[in-house]
Amino acid sequence: MTNRIFSALIVFSTAAALAAMALITLLLNRFSTERSAAELRDSCTLIATAVEQTGGDYLRRADFGGKRVTWILPGGKVIFDSETSPGLLGNHADRIEVTEAFSKGRGSSERFSATTMDTTLNYALRLNDGSVLRVSGAHPSFMRQLSTMAGPMLTLLLITGGFSLLYAFLSTKRILKPINDIDLDHPDIRKSYTELAPLLTKLRTQNGMVSRQMEELRRSRDQFSLITESMDEGFIIADPKMNILACNSAALRLLGTETLPEDNRHTIFSLNRSDGFRKCILNAMGGVSSRCILPGGKGECEIIANPVNNPDAVSGIVVLVFDVTERRQLETMRREFTSNVSHELKTPLTVIYGSADMLAGGLVKPEDVADFGKSIRGEADRLIKLIEDIVSLSKLDEDRVTEHEDVDLYELSGEILRRLSPQAEKKSVTCLLSGSKVVYNGSRTILDEIITNLCSNAIKYNKDGGIVEVKTGQSGGKTTITVSDSGIGIPPASLKRIFERFYRADKSRSRKIEGTGLGLSIVKHGAEYHGGTVSAESTPGKGSIFTVTLP
Ligand code: ADP
Repeated sequence: MTNRIFSALIVFSTAAALAAMALITLLLNRFSTERSAAELRDSCTLIATAVEQTGGDYLRRADFGGKRVTWILPGGKVIFDSETSPGLLGNHADRIEVTEAFSKGRGSSERFSATTMDTTLNYALRLNDGSVLRVSGAHPSFMRQLSTMAGPMLTLLLITGGFSLLYAFLSTKRILKPINDIDLDHPDIRKSYTELAPLLTKLRTQNGMVSRQMEELRRSRDQFSLITESMDEGFIIADPKMNILACNSAALRLLGTETLPEDNRHTIFSLNRSDGFRKCILNAMGGVSSRCILPGGKGECEIIANPVNNPDAVSGIVVLVFDVTERRQLETMRREFTSNVSHELKTPLTVIYGSADMLAGGLVKPEDVADFGKSIRGEADRLIKLIEDIVSLSKLDEDRVTEHEDVDLYELSGEILRRLSPQAEKKSVTCLLSGSKVVYNGSRTILDEIITNLCSNAIKYNKDGGIVEVKTGQSGGKTTITVSDSGIGIPPASLKRIFERFYRADKSRSRKIEGTGLGLSIVKHGAEYHGGTVSAESTPGKGSIFTVTLP
């Protein structure tokens, strides 16, 4: 804008100066031409009067002050010329001014000479004898006057040009200052041109609109990130060029990626470089919803990638990332559990089937029938115990709420120890109960199962003549049941696995001792059912301590 105003001012002022000079020259030329013509007319009248009064001799004597005087007879023959011998001149009847003078009494003409750049002014008068007297004088033409004035005009033009430049510079600055000073964020109509008022008013309205929309946009963006950030699932949006448009921290965590630097644009592939992820994303970009399971940051995650379909093309993808570690673990556990259950059921059933088959076939000596019967009963007992344990566990798994009541754990422990005394006596194990009366509000059945399983193990895995001690009490606002024994103990490697279903530490040794491998699982689930925990400490060869802590 500065340049345009500046150059417009320069062009305009230069053109104005040039036009003014040309006009002045033209007017001057016109004025001087008219004066010269008037002078010529006066001279012609004077000379004609003198010729008529004194005759042609006057012409030969007189000084015409640089003017050319020609005397022409009717018919056009030149009889006198102040500059050339009349004999050398041709017939003048065809000269405009001469023709006019013969017919009308007077005549005039102007003739421009391109060689001399002068205009010749002619004036002719018809004398009483019918001859014509013509006076001619050279007068500088407009072009000649213009070229004569070129030098001073150029100087003047340079001076006016300089002033114009300065003026244009200062004017441009002054004109543009109020425009340059406009604060586009807070346009003030009073401080600018009134002509700009509609524009500034519009600008102000639009500013308000833009800031309202920005605020709205900011709010929805904050809301969007608040929602996505509170999601446990990973959430990613990518454009068709694979650039990440939105990505919550759960997605980064699940895909095992560090935080992305904010200043850089990242492709979705920078989140995970695995082939599976790449294939899944490319499928979605091709317009096909796809899913895959990937080893993620700390487990496994499932990727579900959906295309955002437009009528013409895929305009991006939405990717959801789910943590499926627990689900996969549960699936594995369930699979293992089913195969373990089948295995554990099959073993006693095979024994029962074999014994029964032999009995039915009469292959057993009468004195051995009783032993076979005992063996069948023993295996049936094992089956019943296994089924009871599975039922207890599945009840706990399903979180089936049983009735809660105030249970005195001290009293319950005493009752359980009494129930287990035949088992303890068989191994000469001494069972002790210590602590105090603790009343806990919970499920009597489950609490009974917890203490029974712990005490039964403490007896089973004890040495002959060993000790089992059950202690109930309260510490730190929590109820505790501790079952310790002086038994065989648990090797450190097995200690963290004993709460798994069907896990039996030191299989060869455990096989001799009856068990299902489900007892401690029931204890753990029973404690968790009440919102509590169970922990175990053990020293192989010295004994173990199991502590159940209930809130
Ligand atoms: P089980 O029916 O085999 O006793 P549990 O789930 O009750 O199954 O126990 C799992 C394993 O933990 C047992 O097989 C045993 O090896 C070990 N264990 C449990 N309690 C004790 C204990 N008090 N002393 C030594 N080992 C134990």
